[in-house]
Amino acid sequence: MSEITSRVALVTGGSRGIGRAIAELLAGHGHQIAINYVSNEVAAAEAVAAIEAAGGTAIAVRGDVGDQEAVDALIKDVQDRLGPVEILVNNAGITRDDLLMRMRPEAWDDVMQTNLKSVYLCSRAVMRGMLRGRWGRIVSLSSVAGVYGNPGQANYAAAKAGIIGFTMSLAKEIGSRGITVNAVAPGFIATDMTAALGDDVATAAAEKITLGRLGLPEEVASAVGYLASEDASYITGQTIVVDGGLAL
Ligand code: NAD
Repeated sequence: MSEITSRVALVTGGSRGIGRAIAELLAGHGHQIAINYVSNEVAAAEAVAAIEAAGGTAIAVRGDVGDQEAVDALIKDVQDRLGPVEILVNNAGITRDDLLMRMRPEAWDDVMQTNLKSVYLCSRAVMRGMLRGRWGRIVSLSSVAGVYGNPGQANYAAAKAGIIGFTMSLAKEIGSRGITVNAVAPGFIATDMTAALGDDVATAAAEKITLGRLGLPEEVASAVGYLASEDASYITGQTIVVDGGLAL
């Protein structure tokens, strides 16, 4: 690992789950971390404290990443307190699962706003600083649902597939300026998001996974950390699937 420069990294939805693991890993790489959260101030404070206890630097920044004003305010907050964002991890995401026949428009809109519009808003908000610095890393959390589809998740899969198209397009727009744009598509990872599905679903899923078990947040974080690093300087527009062989 040729990590030598301390960068300012923003992890959206970073107070728990995969986002928290990413925040801790990037802090371990020597970066200064802004942990975005939308409502759980206590969890965000705990995530900050854990990074500080390990000798790192972190702040918590509140804001709904699907809301333009909130995004502009939180990016400014990070800039004022740490400096321009050099590494953006678009991690915040929600599910509102249902079969399409029953899916209400709000379930579609909420997922699009939180999972896809947020990626547009946050990426656009940090781009100016990255262009000025001629260096940047944008890594967004897609999903195997966005690559292969998943019944009951038409809204979620559409948003996660949208992230892949967005990633390739933005990579082409700003590649000549030293900024890489990539995505990571996790499979079935043990977090609050999947715990909500219940043990039976998790057991059934594990049987379909080549490695025979659910993934850990840290196993997704390591792929994100690599794409955010200097070592991944020649990788852009890609989606790395981290699914334990689920889709094989
Ligand atoms: P999680 O539910 O544990 O965490 C998601 C975080 O996003 C939470 O902290 C939540 O508060 C935050 N968030 C939600 N809406 C927000 C908003 N409007 N503004 C700011 N923050 C908001 O989920 P996770 O499993 O850690 O998932 C992280 C990412 O990985 C998500 O994008 C998810 O879609 C993706 N993913 C997860 C899995 C999995 O199996 N867990 C699989 C594929 C993709």
